[in-house]
Order: sequence, then C-alpha cells, then structure tokens
Amino acid sequence: MKKHYDVIVIGAGPAGYVAAIRCAQLGLDTACVDAWINPAGEPALGGTCLNVGCIPSKVLLESSERYTQVQHEFADHGIDVKGVTLDLDRMQDRKRRVVQDLTQGIEQLFKANKVSWVRGRGQLLADKHVRVTDAAGKKHELDAGHVILAPGSEPVPLKTVPLDHDSVVDSSGALAFETLPERLGIIGAGVIGLELGSVWRRLGAERVTLLEAQDEFLPFADQQVAKLAQRIFTRQGLDIQLGSRVVASTVEGGRVRIRYQNAEGEQQAEFDKLIVAVGRRPNTEGLAAEEASLLLDEWGVIHVDDQCHTNLPEVYAIGDAVRGPMLAHKGSEEGVMVAELIAGHAARINYNTVPSVIYTAPEVAWVGQTEGELRAAGIDYRSGTFPFSASGRARALGDSEGFIKLLAERETDRLLGAHMIGPQCSELIAEAVIAMQLGGSAEDLAMTVFAHPSLSESVHEAALAVHERAIHAVQKRGAHGK
Ligand code: FAD
Ligand code: NAD
Repeated sequence: MKKHYDVIVIGAGPAGYVAAIRCAQLGLDTACVDAWINPAGEPALGGTCLNVGCIPSKVLLESSERYTQVQHEFADHGIDVKGVTLDLDRMQDRKRRVVQDLTQGIEQLFKANKVSWVRGRGQLLADKHVRVTDAAGKKHELDAGHVILAPGSEPVPLKTVPLDHDSVVDSSGALAFETLPERLGIIGAGVIGLELGSVWRRLGAERVTLLEAQDEFLPFADQQVAKLAQRIFTRQGLDIQLGSRVVASTVEGGRVRIRYQNAEGEQQAEFDKLIVAVGRRPNTEGLAAEEASLLLDEWGVIHVDDQCHTNLPEVYAIGDAVRGPMLAHKGSEEGVMVAELIAGHAARINYNTVPSVIYTAPEVAWVGQTEGELRAAGIDYRSGTFPFSASGRARALGDSEGFIKLLAERETDRLLGAHMIGPQCSELIAEAVIAMQLGGSAEDLAMTVFAHPSLSESVHEAALAVHERAIHAVQKRGAHGK
C-alpha cells in the first residue's frame, strides 16, 4: 500500500530540510525525500550547502585566512611566529568533521521533529504522487496532500572545458584538493571563483588566474565596492582577467592547457588545476514525469509565483530551482513561507531584503538596490558613506580597508540599499537588513546608539553621512546622492 503524508518534500538542502522541519512543527505528517550520497557512500542531509557549498567553503576560508594572518599579520602586532607550516590533510579533516557534525545535526532535527527521511531520488507523478527510486534501483510510491519541490542546483558545465574531476574540477572538486596547486586557473570570477581562488592563494598557490567572460567585474554589486574589491583582490595575488573566453582545453600529464580569447586576441595558459565556476543551473531534469505537467522554463527553472505556488494545485517549489538569487537563506525562508501557507497561515517574503555576501577578505555584502538600479528606476536618493579607516575598532583589528554606503530615498528617507566592503561585513549587513525589513529610515539608524568601539558604529556613521553629519569623517556637502 502507498504511504500517504500530509506533505512530501523532495530535496533536503537548506530549502527542503527547513520546509520539512517547519511543516512538522506545524503538526503536518511530513516526509523528505533526498538522493544525496556523501564521499563515504552514505546518504546525507543538507544538500549542496552543507555538503559541498556554504559550509565547507567557509571552513576553508576561515582556516586559510588564519594561515595568512599568522604568516603576514601577526608580526605587526609584535607577535613573531616562526616555522609556520601547512598541514592540508588536517585542514581538510577539520572541514569534513564540521560538515559531518552539521549534516548529522539535521538528521537529529528530523528525528526530534518526526520528519520521515526517505532515501532515494523522488519524481513527481500526477496528482501529488511521488515515485522514489533508492540507490539500489528499487522503486516505491508515496502520495501527499501537498508536495514541495526543493531539488536545488548543479554547476553549469562548459562544453569547451570538460571536467575530468582530477585536473579540471567544479567547486566540489576544488573544495577537496589534497595537494596545493601551484598554478591554479579558475573560469568565472563570480562568487565561487573569488572565494575558492582566495582559499588556494592564501594557502600558497603561486599563481591564481581568474578568466572572466564579462568586461565588468561584479556587475551586480555597487560599482564603487566592485572597483575597490578588484584592486584589493589583485593586490592579494588574484590575477583577474576580464573579457576572457576559453575556447579549448586539454589535459596532458596532469597539466591543463587552455586557449582563450580576450581583447588582444588568442592567448594560452597552463595550470596544475582548473576550476570551472561559471554559475549553477536548476537540478530539475527528471524531477517531474511528463504526466505531472509541471511547468518549467527553457532553463529548467520551475515556474512559481511570488508565494512559490507552481502551476499545479498544492505543489510548491523553493530554493535554487526557482527564480531569484541562488542563496541558502533565500531558499530556507521560502521553505518556512510555504510550510506556513500549507498550514493555512498568511505568509510572504520580502525579496528586497535578502542580503548577499562574498566571504573574501575583506568581505563584500549588500542588500536592496544599487545606485545604478535606483538611477535606472528614476528614484531620487541620497547616499552616505563611511570609511573603515575612520573606525577605531577597525584600526585595532588592523583591518581598516573598505567602507559602508547607505542609500535612502530623498523624499521619505526610507532605506533602499546598503553596500559594504570591509571587516565582518557578513555580520554588519544584518543591521541594514533589519532596518529595511522594518521599513526604517537613515534617520532611524542615525538615532540608534551603537557600542563603542565597534564595527557597527560605521553603519551609524554612514547613516549620519546620508544627511552630511557624520562625526568621524569630513563631510563634503552636497556630494551625496543626485
Ligand atoms: P541544494 O542545497 O542544492 O539541495 C538540494 C537537495 O535535493 C540535494 O541534496 C539533492 O541531492 C536533492 N535532490 C535533487 N533532486 C532530487 C530528487 N529528484 N530526489 C531527491 N533528492 C533530490 N549560499 C549562501 O547563501 N551562502 C554561501 O556562503 C554559499 N556558499 C556556497 C559555496 C559553494 C561552493 C556553492 C556551490 C554554493 C554556495 N551557496 C551559498 C549556494 C547554496 O549552496 C545554495 O543556494 C543552496 O544550497 C540551495 O539550497 P536548495 O535547498 O535549494 O538546494
Ligand atoms: P556566479 O554567477 O556568481 O559567477 C559565475 C561567473 O562566471 C560570472 O561572473 C559569469 O560572467 C562568468 N562566466 C559565465 N560563463 C563564462 C565563460 N564561459 N567563461 C568565463 N566566465 C564565464 O556563479 P558561481 O560563482 O558559479 O556561483 C554559483 C551560485 O552559487 C551563485 O549564484 C551564488 O549565488 C551561489 N554562491 C553563493 C555564495 C555566497 O553566498 N557567498 C558562495 C558561492 C556560491
């Protein structure tokens, strides 16, 4: 007999597992079907984010940053450390332990909330029936009152650069290098390229070359932030080559040779390892049988409205497989929203306040609209900028490059965007997110008391600067906003 659930979730990444837990908390009998198999050959929860994405990349970013600091920054504090060596095996072991602890933590949460973990690949059939095929190829069927599709995404392949999963890898391979690549090539200077390029450069790669097809660096970020980021990353040893398109690649004796074109014509390069990081695409092939009639676009993105309803009644889709930024926290919030809707509650997401972070050093973070977007939309705004070089706390940290920029509507003073580059911006951005979520103004932040000395005082000063009254920076009157 088919097992019936109130809710079946397909996919246990940060979108799916959060949806499943919230459904169960709301009293719904919930199953979560997931196909992930970890390198030990065991099923694991957490999807891309916990297994080969957010978490392992941040573990290696943290370890590699400490390695850099002990080598190059401690001396300035009067701390001499001699004989620093890298034990990459131990670093990778630590990464594996963190991943294992967290994925097993989701397992515990499923148990505690009575979510049934169904191991295998799920396929949506007609009428909210789901066929599950386990690792051995055995099939069985479930059905449910509601289905939530959360299959996530996978790396976009490049025809001209096929992966061999040894010398030419995707982000998963690049998180698992067992030796230090001396010459590392990366195709794509997006978020993954910058984060993983930083990791291997900090750990000692002699040359890290990023080949980016577009002529502009981080075109979706604030342009002042992007310019400073490019300057700093270049100084750190990332060779960012814009306007470069790879036309062919070969692997011989463990060396990768590529040919690429840029404004000067055809170029050649040779690397020990090459990472392909040119974006991700929805993991929706085979997700729904034809009889289900699920509507996808030509890129495989599941069609949803702003509350994640698909074209099928009582079938929702969330996370990387639907429109919007491919970010874990965006998927998780969609998971919560959908669970609330299924339980009959009102729920909505404010997509304007989803923050983005690039976890380089310095960190880059933003939320809301950029100046370019505001100008294009004809919105009159004021901007306030405060440099970390004027922050006592940033000086104490020895980490004072960068700035915070806040954008507020001229007429109402409502905050419309925040753009920052500097120390701990992944944390500082939350202040702007909260203010924007509550419909706050620059004046609200300007009137808020922040602890001294702290990095968050710089948010306060940027808010004061919107009205040309920052205390710790010289204000150029009339220079803010258009
Ligand atoms: P996924 O995490 O991809 O999970 C989908 C799950 O569904 C997987 O377990 C998959 O096996 C399973 N599945 C798919 N199809 C089926 C099926 N038919 N049946 C059963 N199971 C199925 N985002 C951030 O916000 N912050 C970061 O710092 C960050 N860093 C990243 C670093 C890297 C290197 C990468 C690659 C990504 C990073 N991301 C980050 C992006 C983030 O990982 C994704 O946005 C997030 O994982 C998407 O969540 P999801 O639940 O939609 O899908
Ligand atoms: P991305 O979209 O950030 O960057 C891909 C880059 O590759 C772009 O700059 C693009 O112009 C370039 N590109 C595309 N085709 C190319 C080609 N043929 N040759 C050269 N360059 C080419 O994608 P990503 O870095 O692969 O990351 C995938 C997703 O994962 C992103 O959407 C991101 O949101 C998510 N992610 C998030 C974080 C984070 O939140 N910190 C970290 C890693 C990944």
